[in-house]
Amino acid sequence: MDHCAQPQLLPIDDALTRLLAQLVPVQEQQSVALLDALDRVLASDVIAPVNVPADDNSAMDGYALRAQDSPGQLQLIGESLAGHPFRKEIKQGQCVRIMTGALIPAGADTVVMQENVLADGDSIVLNESSPLGNNIRRAGEDIAHGSKVLAAGHRITALDIGLLASLGLAQVKVVRNIRVALLTTGDELLPAGAAPELGKIYDSNRPLLRALLQRLPVELTDLGVIPDNPDALRNAFTQAMQTADVVISTGGVSVGDADYTKDILAELGEIDFWKIAMKPGKPFAFGRLGKGWFFGLPGNPVSTAVTYHQLVVPALRKLSGETQEVTTQTQPVRSAIARHALKKQPGRTDFQRGIVEYQNGIYYVRSAGLQNSGVLTGMANANCYIRLEAERGSVAEGEQVEIILFDSFIV
Ligand code: AMP
Ligand code: MG
Repeated sequence: MDHCAQPQLLPIDDALTRLLAQLVPVQEQQSVALLDALDRVLASDVIAPVNVPADDNSAMDGYALRAQDSPGQLQLIGESLAGHPFRKEIKQGQCVRIMTGALIPAGADTVVMQENVLADGDSIVLNESSPLGNNIRRAGEDIAHGSKVLAAGHRITALDIGLLASLGLAQVKVVRNIRVALLTTGDELLPAGAAPELGKIYDSNRPLLRALLQRLPVELTDLGVIPDNPDALRNAFTQAMQTADVVISTGGVSVGDADYTKDILAELGEIDFWKIAMKPGKPFAFGRLGKGWFFGLPGNPVSTAVTYHQLVVPALRKLSGETQEVTTQTQPVRSAIARHALKKQPGRTDFQRGIVEYQNGIYYVRSAGLQNSGVLTGMANANCYIRLEAERGSVAEGEQVEIILFDSFIV
């Protein structure tokens, strides 16, 4: 850990690579109820305990019969409904009325759509032959008994919950939640709900991060607002490092007079202070604290959000045991056309906040308003980051840019 000695800025991809290389995923596992498994990471492969579908069943409303009896006139001997199978065997010249999802009766090997049948009391007439196996969903066609359904290291989505339920699984083995301790620093910070005071501002970072952290498999300890005072910080960090896998703080990582975070961390842990070539979010601290990891995010709320998305989310995903490739692209990246010029200086990767629209197969993006790192409105109005490469200068109207869509948690 030598970057504090180097004055140059660390490219964001290098920062991420260095960071991820050091992190060792949590190993402990636990069993959770299926409905509590959303966004958790599978600790072991899920092997299908049954066939899905469990038995051969009908893909249509129609008639189940023996293919060799078609075309012809057949005797109707009963019905098979979903959940209410016909329990006798179909013999030569017989058929059974069958509904979608109902069990194929023994003896039957094809299903004829009701539209292709002339029904008349206890008999039906088929004018065409019905191929063997027609309109039958085979047992195990979706998932075969014993096959691997989901792999260890997969983060469970709402769709997976449906899939696992289709296998009859009520419990799932997942990696235990990551224990995160969160604190914000600053003498100026008031909690939401407090009366305004001269020179004070409301603490937006802690609620923001708490909300963001809810989307990850995290068990949170909120240590609150810590004043700009070395003893208070020392106490908070000492407490946090007892149990936390990860300590996240905001503020106090630059070089101001009241920025004690780095002194205390150097005292209690092994910390890198990185100047990352990204905008916003240049000052960023990362390192070890006790048995856990420390992430010191910048105090400006937009910088907090950007560094959280770009550096902390990949780190938490790796720690949580997710094996899907974890990169800066925790959200989908697209190519878009700039609706207007975007100001930028070469040197750092910009994460500007943008509003993207999709028209005739093309993404068009515009700025979401003021781009200052203290301005959360632009971020809240945005639906994507506009990621501008470090070496790039200002962008002209009509140029192609990369965007990172915000909404990656819909499934
Ligand atoms: P710092 O990194 O502590 O120097 O803070 C940089 C800027 O972010 C200052 O204007 C702080 O007042 C502001 N800031 C720091 N922490 C927070 C927070 N939790 N919520 C809102 N603004 C903050
Ligand atoms: Mg501060």
